[in-house]
Amino acid sequence: MSNTPVTRALFDDVMVPNYAPAPVIPVRGKGSRIWDQNDKEYIDFAGGIAVTSVGHSHPKLVATLKEQGEKLWHIANVMTNEPALRLAKKLTDATFADKVYFANSGGEANEAAFKLARRYAVDNFGEEKNEIIAFEQAFHGRTLFTVSVGGQPKYSAGFGPALEGITHLPYNDIKALETAMSAKTCAIVMEPLQGEGGIIDADPAFIKRARELCDQHNALLVLDEVQTGAGRLGTLYAYQQTDIMPDILTTAKGLGNGFPVAAMLTTTKIAKSLAIGTHGSTYGGNPLACSIAEAVIDIVNTPEVLAGVAAKFNRFKAGLEAINARVPFCSEIRGKGLLIGCALNDEYKGRAGEFLRAAQGKGLLVLIAGPNVIRMAPSLLIPDADIDAGLVILEAAVRDIVEA
Ligand SMILES: *Cc1c(COP(=O)(O)O)cnc(C)c1O
Repeated sequence: MSNTPVTRALFDDVMVPNYAPAPVIPVRGKGSRIWDQNDKEYIDFAGGIAVTSVGHSHPKLVATLKEQGEKLWHIANVMTNEPALRLAKKLTDATFADKVYFANSGGEANEAAFKLARRYAVDNFGEEKNEIIAFEQAFHGRTLFTVSVGGQPKYSAGFGPALEGITHLPYNDIKALETAMSAKTCAIVMEPLQGEGGIIDADPAFIKRARELCDQHNALLVLDEVQTGAGRLGTLYAYQQTDIMPDILTTAKGLGNGFPVAAMLTTTKIAKSLAIGTHGSTYGGNPLACSIAEAVIDIVNTPEVLAGVAAKFNRFKAGLEAINARVPFCSEIRGKGLLIGCALNDEYKGRAGEFLRAAQGKGLLVLIAGPNVIRMAPSLLIPDADIDAGLVILEAAVRDIVEA
């Protein structure tokens, strides 16, 4: 066994076939560059799906990992720990929230959020108030509860009976929302900008109306900021660009820069419904994860970095528009901050994966958001030179397909 070559072929031998990874295996990264087993270099516009928010092997994070790694990795939640408390203080100081629950992934943070929303309603208004309103194309994770709240049947179908009490409405449809809300609604769950669903921004009027309807019906507004949070859209959290505040917010992905860590934020009043023993996690809030997330927040939550996100968006947008003028391939370049989508025009509909593979072959990592959208979610610190170099590769990849 020790002599078995570690190749992509081994994946098919030993891994559950739920993923279809690329033919190459990355082995190291630095900033916004990655190298594979053959030392081929890639510019990283993917950020590990909006995760590596400050880039690969960031020296401050490596130092934090080593320092905390030599101190204390884990203790059960029967004791608290310094990094968790420091991180919780920073998150509550920086947001609407008074209280934090730590988890290990976006799906788990959402699971906690959805359970809390139901529990709070049952505690305060009775068993009947348990219905969740969610949206088509939404993505909230892969646990049974989160695929049920998510609005993509391809993720929820085929696993037996779905959870009950969940209604899916078209995103940004105020009328549908007004009609669907009732005394039984315990929560509206939404992404402030749908990521996996195609980089679709919420209309400010839609979020505002959702907030008002929640207030009228004693329901909670749950914002899933797993992808949009931790500075990705140019403010620490996306809701900070609106004039509303959520009741519950979840954050993961960029929070740990690749180290698994997530948080659910809420108010003191709502948090009361997660009383002792109601919910928990073995790893959630462990000192190693929290020390890294604290370092990420310290790096990201500065005026310079957040302003840089908006500036880099403009650079991406101008560059993508210039490519599109030379080689038309998309109908819209959209998104906010460093969560950018190129919606393919009718001619290339359904072929986003081909663009991804063409770029990869030439040394650029991008993402897709469904079959029709090329998605980019690079490090918030990506140097302008890497943006420019990556766009040159993207243009070559686009030409390969468009001029074929
Ligand atoms: C990625 C994502 C999740 C799921 O996070 P995991 O860490 O994969 O469980 C949930 N919600 C949104 C909006 C996401 O983008």
